[in-house]
Amino acid sequence: MTNKSPVMRICISCRQTYNREDLFKITKDHKQGIMFHKGIGRSAYICKSKNCYTDSKIKKKLQKALKTFLDAEFFDIFEKEMQTIIN
Ligand SMILES: [Zn+2]
Repeated sequence: MTNKSPVMRICISCRQTYNREDLFKITKDHKQGIMFHKGIGRSAYICKSKNCYTDSKIKKKLQKALKTFLDAEFFDIFEKEMQTIIN
């Protein structure tokens, strides 16, 4: 019998609850640093909405959620990554 209920997570930008599978996951891995969709450590979730990743406060929110400093290079990669999944 399968009775799997979806795991729900909150988008750090719009604060809405979504199925974890529909969210973009950013993890601060203990060993490898910031990773997308993998890694073990503190994670932040963001929904696949343009409003959320382009939000002017997203840098602050992400750094706060991951409790780490994120440089411009990271946000460059992050934005490109988001652009590829959002039409
Ligand atoms: Zn959102």
